[in-house]
Order: sequence, then C-alpha cells, then structure tokens
Amino acid sequence: MDAFDPEHRRLTLVVAACNEAEALPSLHPRLLAALDMAAAAGLDASLLYVDDGSRDATWALMQGYAREDARVALLRLSRNFGKEAALTAGLDQVRQGAAMILDADGQDPPELLPQFVAKWREGYDDIHGTRMARAGDGLFKRVAAHGFYRVIGRLSKTPVPRDTGDFRLLSPRALAALRQLRERHRFMKGLFGWIGFNSTAIPYQRDARAAGRSKFNTWRLWNFALEGITGFSTAPLRLATYLGLATALLAFAYGCVVIVQALLWRNPVAGWPSLMVVILFLGGVQLMALGLIGEYLGRLYEESKQRPLYLVDVWQPANALSSKPLPEPQESCHAHGTSTA
Ligand code: UDP
Ligand code: MG
Repeated sequence: MDAFDPEHRRLTLVVAACNEAEALPSLHPRLLAALDMAAAAGLDASLLYVDDGSRDATWALMQGYAREDARVALLRLSRNFGKEAALTAGLDQVRQGAAMILDADGQDPPELLPQFVAKWREGYDDIHGTRMARAGDGLFKRVAAHGFYRVIGRLSKTPVPRDTGDFRLLSPRALAALRQLRERHRFMKGLFGWIGFNSTAIPYQRDARAAGRSKFNTWRLWNFALEGITGFSTAPLRLATYLGLATALLAFAYGCVVIVQALLWRNPVAGWPSLMVVILFLGGVQLMALGLIGEYLGRLYEESKQRPLYLVDVWQPANALSSKPLPEPQESCHAHGTSTA
C-alpha cells in the first residue's frame, strides 16, 4: 500500500451514542488517547460522534468535546433512528480513509487501535473484534446468542462471524462498498459479511458496560434476531412449503388407513377429538406460515417507501468552531436495530 496516498493516511473513529451521558466522560479520554496512538502510527486521525437523538446530556457533552479538541466532529440526527442508522449516518460522512466503529459505552476498547491499524496495513479490509468473554451478559443472553449464531450461520448464504459486533475497522473500499447497500432494515453484521473482501478477526476481552443501561432488552434482541434471519435468508418461506407437503402426505396416508379399515373391518369412523386436534393443529400451522409471509411482506413494504435511512439535524465537521443551538429532543432510544450481542 502507498503510504502517501491520502486514502491510507486517514482514519475516523465513528462512535454512535444514544443517552450515553454516564458512559461518555470515561470513554472520551480513551478515544483521545487512541487518536494519539493513530497519529504516532503516522495517521491523520479524527473522531466522529453521532448523537442518535439522545434526551440526556450526551449532545451537550459532545459539543464540549468538540470545542476542546479540533479533531472531534459531530453529527446529530433529527431523532432516534436506531443504532444501525446512526452508524450508517456516521460512516456516510467518512469520505476519505478508513473508519473504525466503537460503542459509546466503553465495551469496545479503543486501546486496540494499533492492532487494527496493523492489520489494515497488512491489506485487510474488514478487521473485526471478536469477543472471547462476555462480561456482563447473563446465562440466558449467552445461550440465546449461541443459538442465534448457529441459526444465522446455517441460514445465511454470506458469513456472519460469531461473537462479533460492530467493533471493526473498515478500509476505504469496504466503506465504499457498504455505502452502496441502502436497505432500510439494516442487519449490520450481515451487511459487513455480504460485502466480502479480506476480513480478519482480532480476539479481545469485552468488558461490561462502563455506565448506563443496555438499550437492548430480551424482546428487542428477539426482534433483532428476526431482522437478521429475514434480512439474510428466505429459507423460512420455504419452511411453509415443506410443512404443507409433509402434512399433506401424512393426511393422505392416514386417509388410506381409514378407508381400508372401513372396508375390511367395517370400523366406525373415530369421533371428534382427533378431528379437533387435526383442525387446530393445521390452523396453527397455517397462521404461522401466514405470519412468516407477513414478515417478509412488511419488510418489502418498508423498502418500497424509499424513505431516507436517517435525517441529519446538525453536522459539524472536525476543525469547525460554530454550531447550531441545541434543539429540544423528544424521543427516547429504541433499538430497531443492531445490537452488539
Ligand atoms: N445506540 C444508538 N442508538 C440506539 C441504541 C443504541 O446509537 O437507538 C448505541 C449506544 O449508545 C451504544 C451502542 O449503540 O453506543 C450499543 O448499544 P448498547 O450498549 O445498548 O448495546 P449492547 O452492547 O448491550 O448490545
Ligand atoms: Mg453495550
């Protein structure tokens, strides 16, 4: 790689945050230290904070950071759009060089930056952190995550590396590729895998959240899993076909048995309990299949509306001094999106 090419000299740390006023003060100095490490490695590094419609002091804190350090850029979305939209907004602003994505809660250690940069210089395009331990996750989340990665690994045609979140460094061409994927339902882990190129993993110890609460409870994680499966596989649609085929075959076989019994032994037809069971069972299967189709149809509907993925309220590039006054925030964080689980 050419060391004088600006594409290879620039690095932007992208940090999406929603209501992280408790965690940011401890993370910010670590991010600044990471910028220094990047500079020591000969990189022109900057930090981009994306405020995803926070209602607490997050935006005020960010503005303070930007005033103190010219390397800090700010982007504020018009409301809470969810983590993947916020990340997309941030990555869209990285017009030159590579980008490194970190969580705002201190779970992704910025201290690993030199390792990521070293891999980038070796020629990798997608360098992702893979957690070795899940500190702060209960047994249920661990088991659920394990099951999820198994299912998505089987169903998705493109790889979704396990135990890997959004903590990663993307090369300029990986970023350019990602920018072309404008789908509304963004399962980022899948999108990263979809673009391909050379990827490598860096194992790391994932700490528990520095402060504040996770925005992803069990229900949201379940929805997130659905997002991943429906976004990257149409196999569930085929499930209905096979279920239907199997029940039809079974029904046919049973029908034969009933006819033979009636003809040979003059057996009276069995009563209604078995009939009820079959009707209810089939009703359930049909509703489930309909629901499945509905899932995909709903996604198709969302896509067809062609709405923008996010709207920007304030964009303040690094080195800028002025900014718009703080507007009144209205929404709380919701996570129709990517968790790092
Ligand atoms: N986040 C965001 N918008 C949201 C929800 C979350 O930007 O609507 C950010 C959040 O501030 C954090 C990251 O996404 O930086 C990961 O969120 P969290 O720590 O709650 O997820 P977990 O690590 O528990 O999966
Ligand atoms: Mg977290």
